[in-house]
Amino acid sequence: MTARVCVLGPSGRMGRSLIDAAAGRDDVRVTAAVVRPGTDGLGQPVTAEVIATADPDAGLAACDVYIDFTSPAATRGFAEAAARHRRAAVIGTTGLAPGDHAVIDQLAQVAPIVVAANFSLGVNLVLGLVRQAARALGPEWDAEVVETHHHSKRDAPSGTALAIARAIAAGHGVDYDQVKRHTRDGDVGPRPRGEIGVSSLRGGDVVGEHTASFFGAGERLEISHRATSRAIFAVGALRAAAWVVDQPPGRYDMLDVLGL
Ligand code: NAD
Repeated sequence: MTARVCVLGPSGRMGRSLIDAAAGRDDVRVTAAVVRPGTDGLGQPVTAEVIATADPDAGLAACDVYIDFTSPAATRGFAEAAARHRRAAVIGTTGLAPGDHAVIDQLAQVAPIVVAANFSLGVNLVLGLVRQAARALGPEWDAEVVETHHHSKRDAPSGTALAIARAIAAGHGVDYDQVKRHTRDGDVGPRPRGEIGVSSLRGGDVVGEHTASFFGAGERLEISHRATSRAIFAVGALRAAAWVVDQPPGRYDMLDVLGL
């Protein structure tokens, strides 16, 4: 079956990448695109067959699954609308607050959805590897995550860095929120054992780089991923869209899609 896809924000960085990556695939077909009201793309062709609309209900009615790489406020609004349509979803927006996740969880009650801070195969492997490393090394090896992104990125730390840090905490068997350290400034004192630090660099056109470092006595382990093209996220999200339409209602992640 070919899944009919609605792309939100088709002129955004990820929106454009999704439209490009969908061309030529036979498991998905873009049948709708929704732009933010008042933006330039309204009424413009997105593909040869699709004209952008600003009406979420029209977009959701014309698809089997929508793909959302927008902003937390838009993601929340679309999840509420999609719950009324019982529409499947692939959500990649980062910087989501607990209240946003609660709305997304309500959609998952009535429709199958995939939510991931990163849709690349490599990063999802990294999540498994850091968890394994943290479990083997324990909190005696100081764990830190450093992420680098382009200068337009709004949220920090990146959703992927948080997912990596949470995977390390899971490997240590602790609650991430009890051990996290997102900024250091001034006299912060010696590093407490078990703390998990996350640092953010911003600059240029970097698509996304993440390194988890484990500092032991006299040695250091680093597990890194570097994205050089947004196409990896778009291809992963389209693969998730084709997969999720055949699933029962529930919230899935990329490890489910990849069968890892
Ligand atoms: P962007 O600013 O280039 O694009 C966002 C688009 O969303 C814009 O076109 C904007 O007009 C549109 N939008 C906002 N509100 C809307 C609304 N109410 N209706 C329709 N469209 C709306 O940003 P980007 O670089 O494409 O990133 C978007 C999000 O995806 C960010 O949260 C980013 O962190 C995340 N992201 C996730 C992954 C992943 O693998 N999960 C990968 C890359 C980016």
